[in-house]
Parts: sequence; C-alpha cells; structure tokens
Amino acid sequence: MDDVKRRVLIIEDEEGIVVTVSDRLEAEGYGVEAASDGDSGFRKASTGEFDVVILDLMLPGRDGLSVCRDLRGIGITTPVLMLTARGQVFDKVLGLKIGADDYMVKPFEMAELLARIEVLIRRGRTVSARDGSSYEIPGAIVDLKAASVRRDGRTIDLTHQESRLLEYFLQNRGEIIDRNELLDMVWGYDAAPATRTVDVHIAALRKKLGDTRSGKIIQTVRSRGYRFTA
Ligand code: CA
Repeated sequence: MDDVKRRVLIIEDEEGIVVTVSDRLEAEGYGVEAASDGDSGFRKASTGEFDVVILDLMLPGRDGLSVCRDLRGIGITTPVLMLTARGQVFDKVLGLKIGADDYMVKPFEMAELLARIEVLIRRGRTVSARDGSSYEIPGAIVDLKAASVRRDGRTIDLTHQESRLLEYFLQNRGEIIDRNELLDMVWGYDAAPATRTVDVHIAALRKKLGDTRSGKIIQTVRSRGYRFTA
C-alpha cells in the first residue's frame, strides 16, 4: 500500500453490509465513509474525494442509478461499483450507459469485492495521471479532464464513456484494439454479447471528433477492431 490512503465511499442502506464491508476494507488499509440513502450519498460522492464508490441499486430517496447518472452529469469520474440484490432486475446496458463501471450481485464474497475495487482503482489512477492534459489530434484538441473536444471554434462535450474510450485510444495509439478489450477496459463488464455497444459509441465519438471519413482518426480494422491513428 502506498502512503496515500485510498478512500472508498459505500452508499448502502443495509447496515449489516455497511459494517462488514467497512471493517474489511479498513483492515486492508482503506479509508471508508458510508451513506445510508441516495441523497446524502450523492452529496458525499460529488466532492470527488473518493477513489471508488460502492453504490447499492435500491436506496431510500434517490436510487442508485440516478445517483450514478447525476454524478456523471456533474463531471465526477470516480469509478462506481453497483450492488444489486439477487433476483433484482438490473439492466447492464442501462447501467453502462449511465456510467457505472462494474456491478456485483448480493450476497458476494468479500475477496471478490476487494479484487474488483483494486481493478477499479488501478483504472482510475491512469485517468488521474492524465489530469489537466489536452491532446492535439488532426483538426481538434481533446481535453480529457474537461471531457470535451474543441474544433471549428466550438466546444463539444463528451459523454463519460466517450472520454474513457478516447483516453484508452490515446494510451494505445497505433495499436489494433478489439471490441472485447474495449468493453473490458472502458466498461469493465463481461458484456461479450454487447460488442455492438462499442460500435455505437465509436460512431458517436467519430462524429464529435469530426472524423467523418472514417479512418482519418479512428480506423476500423476489418474483423479485428479499431486503431487510433492520429
Ligand atoms: Ca438497498
């Protein structure tokens, strides 16, 4: 563990889960804060002071989905791990669309939760290492911190997933990246059947980058994936 204590926020109304998770995380050296309803959880998470947010789906007040969506809406990029109860209908695609990074079904093994949290923190760290940096690509300037693209004198906002996609492309310039890798690295779901989701987001991203003649910036490599060529 490095000197900086990693901070986890758990938003969950089941006291037993909060106690179990907090105790274990604290024993592992994490700093833990808890909130027992959606509104106070949103307020705490909106400070952006946490490395991971564990977010229950069903909460008093604002539910987990709207907490997550609203956090992304105000530009908070903290990784979110959703918790759902067994038998609860959780729409993975919707979860991914509103910016959740991963999810687990209760009851879960603590070891599994710890492993997922570590992955999310590693991924989050590569984002913060790039804070404040902007990149020049043909015809546009990308600002990952602000999640926007500037071109033709206009500023175009990127969605959470679009900016994560773009960041991953920038880190792997020139390499062919297949759709499953993008799903794993950007969405973090084992969402094999939803590879079309990637195509949809890439199409939207190309439009925002002004990449109308596909391939100028993001190249489609037939039956293999995509390559960021800029
Ligand atoms: Ca609950």
